[in-house]
Amino acid sequence: MEKNYDVIIVGAGSIGVQTALSLSQEKFSVLVIDKLTAPGQGQSKKAIGGIRATFSDKAKIHIGLESIEVFSTWEEKYGDDIGWRADGYSYPAYTDKDERTLKDLLKIQKSFGLNIEWVSPEEYVKLVPGINREGLRGSTYSPEDGNASPLLSVNAFYFKSKEFGAEYHFNEEIIGVEKKNGAIVGIKTNRGNYNCKILINAAGADAKKLGQMVEIDIPVHPDCHEAGVTEPVQKFFKTMVVDLRYGPGSSNCYFYQDSEEQVVFCLTPEPPINGTDARSTSVFLPQISRRMIDLFPKLKNIKVRRTWRGLYPETPDGSPIVGKTKIDGFILAVGMCGQGFMLGPGVGKLITRILTNNLSKDDEDTLKSVSLYRDFTGEEKLK
Ligand SMILES: Cc1cc2nc3c(=O)[nH]c(=O)nc-3n(C[C@H](O)[C@H](O)[C@H](O)COP(=O)(O)OP(=O)(O)OC[C@H]3O[C@@H](n4cnc5c(N)ncnc54)[C@H](O)[C@@H]3O)c2cc1C
Repeated sequence: MEKNYDVIIVGAGSIGVQTALSLSQEKFSVLVIDKLTAPGQGQSKKAIGGIRATFSDKAKIHIGLESIEVFSTWEEKYGDDIGWRADGYSYPAYTDKDERTLKDLLKIQKSFGLNIEWVSPEEYVKLVPGINREGLRGSTYSPEDGNASPLLSVNAFYFKSKEFGAEYHFNEEIIGVEKKNGAIVGIKTNRGNYNCKILINAAGADAKKLGQMVEIDIPVHPDCHEAGVTEPVQKFFKTMVVDLRYGPGSSNCYFYQDSEEQVVFCLTPEPPINGTDARSTSVFLPQISRRMIDLFPKLKNIKVRRTWRGLYPETPDGSPIVGKTKIDGFILAVGMCGQGFMLGPGVGKLITRILTNNLSKDDEDTLKSVSLYRDFTGEEKLK
């Protein structure tokens, strides 16, 4: 017999699990299906754990602030330690151009409610003692941004969503979508058929394939990013450091010290490495080590424990794609680029407000910016 659900979510990553939590809290019957073995086993476990609302675009700031509220209060509310630390984000400027860009953005960011300031080089070295002072012009600092463990978080969100009634099927793949009169009526998997009126595409790097099942083109293209983690060492700097300068083979790099006092780091390859190859390379570690040691010489004696590679589900303008589509009941929560971990809670709540007809004016503005039907000509400057 086919089972009926109000909502089926494809993908148990940080987006799918948070959406399941939020919808089950509103009493929707929810089934989440993932072809992998457990929650977060797609790209979510590859995230380095950075969480911010420091963006250049109102929609992402809006979603980011709501997400930070969830991460920062999770332990107090539900008791699980997810490794949340409000250590802030910083974007040090070493060029006139970066200083101007960041200061211009600051005005927009503050007008959208972000707690962010420009700090002098003297103030910045107190946050990151030993940072290279040569040419340092100051930095932005947003103290309410932070970090958490992706694995601890996704698991905590998963177990909480189950308490509210969400069901999960792992090792099961969606292979077809059933429609009737232009509306979603169910799905077909490699193990059976299920009925639903709402189907949420939270399939991460596979979002486009799911769109093809209903003949909707979703402009999400994965590209490859590597990251690494060191041994733990006594905390010696606070805040995520994002170096915006171009280096050989990379456009920017970023690192911080997590709740276990390990330094976690990542860079953005330039040109981008498109595709789905998730094998680590021997290029990454020498490349990023040079950049990081030049910027912050104190890092040079710390041992690296491991590196890994994963995918960013990219969109043409660097903003996610969230909301309704021309097919009744087919909802998108995709294209999270390098921010799917940090945006999960805000995206889940936004989708819930769509489905409960509870959208605020800010939500409506946000949904225009993240719609599938926007022109994709803008660009998120702090991707
Ligand atoms: C090196 C690296 C560092 C990163 N650092 C950060 C960071 O610091 N902060 C941050 O916010 N983000 C970061 N990210 C980005 C983040 O990991 C992604 O944006 C996020 O994982 C996307 O979440 P998702 O839930 O959309 O996708 P995923 O976590 O990939 O989940 C999608 C799921 O859908 C399932 N699926 C797909 N198709 C089907 C199907 N047909 N049937 C069944 N199941 C299906 C997949 O198996 C997968 O589990 C980083 C990424 C990488 C690679």
